[in-house]
Amino acid sequence: MTTLQDCLALDAQDPLRELRRLFTLPQGVIYLDGNSLGPLPAAAPARIAQAVTQEWGQGLIRSWNSAGWYELPRRLGDRIAALIGAGADEVVATDSTSINLYKVLSAGLEIAARDAPHRSKLVSERSNFPTDLYIAQSLCKQRGYQLHLVDSDRIEAALTDETAVLMLTHVNYRTGAMHDMADLTAKAHAAGVLAVWDLAHSAGAVPVDLHGADADFAVGCGYKYLNGGPGAPAFVWVHPRHTGRFCQPLAGWWSHEAPFEFTPDYRPAPGIARYLCGTQPILSMTALECGLDTFAAAQPLGGMATLRRKSLALSDLFIALMQERCAGNGFGLATPREHERRGSQVCLTRKQGAYAIVQALIARGVIGDFRAGDGAKHEDILRFGFTPLYTSFADVWNAVEQLRQVLESGEWQRPEFDRKHAVT
Ligand SMILES: *Cc1c(COP(=O)(O)O)cnc(C)c1O
Repeated sequence: MTTLQDCLALDAQDPLRELRRLFTLPQGVIYLDGNSLGPLPAAAPARIAQAVTQEWGQGLIRSWNSAGWYELPRRLGDRIAALIGAGADEVVATDSTSINLYKVLSAGLEIAARDAPHRSKLVSERSNFPTDLYIAQSLCKQRGYQLHLVDSDRIEAALTDETAVLMLTHVNYRTGAMHDMADLTAKAHAAGVLAVWDLAHSAGAVPVDLHGADADFAVGCGYKYLNGGPGAPAFVWVHPRHTGRFCQPLAGWWSHEAPFEFTPDYRPAPGIARYLCGTQPILSMTALECGLDTFAAAQPLGGMATLRRKSLALSDLFIALMQERCAGNGFGLATPREHERRGSQVCLTRKQGAYAIVQALIARGVIGDFRAGDGAKHEDILRFGFTPLYTSFADVWNAVEQLRQVLESGEWQRPEFDRKHAVT
């Protein structure tokens, strides 16, 4: 049996233990939902206040130059690039994941239409995050493509000479299962298919090597593991071999070669800046930079490799403790046990009561979340994200202990825990 003492000993040896100080977490809360909304970086309130009172208040419009506002999408893009195996000048932080996906899917379909006009399908996974599928549906309709959705074990079989683009999310939001990006990209390319990756649950959570995998396009999220704050700008990456070949359809003035010439005709910016659209939310960009600073602090301690090692140790511990302390309560495990197939979250399944159990846990200060099953094959899911920057091994032990008590006392069956909120 693993004891709390064992977990405290693991914390004492953890090279990342000091980084928890970089976050403001409420007293008495164990936060296992950083995969959905990262917590507040401790430096963010003062930094954002400075951006408001000094840069906006005093600097006024001069701050576009003097405070570097105009450069923020590129500057933050370069910092994100370092976390995802992309090069300098290849990433911009901008807009939302959904919008960036629209841009890169448009580019992928356009380039495929030129290089391989007979190909008519866009392939994705049925269990992909819905917004990705909705954007894909909309684009397929506009451009006369067919959206072909498959289960994860049928992806390779769908890479035929009818397929133009493969769009996948690297780590599945419901199960925490991770694809082998390099392998699937290589198989896509061998079949003449372009590979678009959504890194929403990967950037800042697992090591990503876009160039190593030779991916074609990628997008990702700023408010999950990157701790950029609610609605933080997302990011977009395009392999340099494609950047100059297409002007994405949301060709606003920030994507122009010389926006301040104010010319009536459009000339796309030469590099990744052509994936910008219009004026960016500078205060949100400022918050995202504070989130990225928390990763910079992990750099001298080994960066993503050290973060990944701890993330796997935390999720392994959670799985082991669930077996030791909560067995026989009807839970299954949706997340793969193999390290190379697991992201940074653990998803439990349960036929009934998943929502109420999550609510009862939240009432005890253990914050995870719930994702509904699709009725047919999938059971409901209790989702727990393990973020090595601020989660301790003792947190994992205490979270499982709280879950054990919620189950043993039966308190999750109280009616107030079954009331559905607008956001789950
Ligand atoms: C979180 C998430 C999104 C979010 O998209 P928004 O445009 O920020 O609402 C998109 N795709 C995936 C796979 C996600 O996990």
